[in-house]
Amino acid sequence: MPRLAVIGHPVAHSRSPDMQTAALMEMKLAGEWTYGALDVAPEDFEATVAELAVAEEYAGVNITVPHKEAALAMADEASEGARAIGAANTLSFREGRIVADNTDAGGLLRSLPRSFRGERVLVLGAGGAARAAIWALVDEGASVDVWNRTADRGATVAAELGAGTITDPDPAAYSLIVNTTAVGLAGEDTFEALPLSPDSFAAGQTVLDMVYTEEPSALLAAAEDAGATVVDGLEMLVQQGALSLRIWTGEEPSIEAMRTAVRRG
Ligand code: NAP
Repeated sequence: MPRLAVIGHPVAHSRSPDMQTAALMEMKLAGEWTYGALDVAPEDFEATVAELAVAEEYAGVNITVPHKEAALAMADEASEGARAIGAANTLSFREGRIVADNTDAGGLLRSLPRSFRGERVLVLGAGGAARAAIWALVDEGASVDVWNRTADRGATVAAELGAGTITDPDPAAYSLIVNTTAVGLAGEDTFEALPLSPDSFAAGQTVLDMVYTEEPSALLAAAEDAGATVVDGLEMLVQQGALSLRIWTGEEPSIEAMRTAVRRG
């Protein structure tokens, strides 16, 4: 029986087990495949993954905070995206070898309503999630500007991934605005922390907030009020999870079943 899991620290809050199990049920694979959660501290990460890779029951794992860089570092093979991003969120175990992918990049593109090839995109943030977003959007052919609270870090990441840097963006200049910062999670004032105001948005724009909260984020609520198209972090979570499941099973999961499961959780 092939086993799958998400590895994080902490991991109890993760919606991946419910979401992936719902997909496996819909695919009629739930009798055969299982998806669980493993809380692994950073000092135990490498030994745990090395053990799973050789123990035949595991087909692969999703990787979440804080292990995505360590996951890439111990892979025998990695996709071009995972290498460029510098992090892996999906490991597959193939005859004892560890193969790394980063489905945050493809998941972000699949969560958007259309391609932004040739258009201007603003990415807020320069952490791991931003690296996946910038790489995906540059690869798609968008013209990406990066804003980050710590400007030096933003400039370094942007230069490395083929994007530009901006310190005082004009939101109206962008077709797509992507928030990859953690702003909104700890109750801070979104419009104090980010270079945006509630009236920064307009119809015709798309706004994606990677943070997932129970209620629509302040950012998405303002964007929606202005008539912009909004995409929340749960949609991206579903899409990156579906890509991981496709890598392991070779089959296309039901996006609807996964959406229903994450929005119930
Ligand atoms: P990270 O590597 O720690 O990066 C955090 C980013 O947020 C940095 O750019 C940091 O700026 C910025 N930031 C943090 N607090 C801030 C504040 N108060 N004001 C302005 N900027 C602030 O984290 P990450 O892995 O990129 O994850 C970021 C978020 O994306 C998390 O909430 C995570 O859950 C979410 N995420 C969602 C998905 C999904 O599928 N929906 C996938 C991946 C990640 P500095 O450089 O200045 O510190």
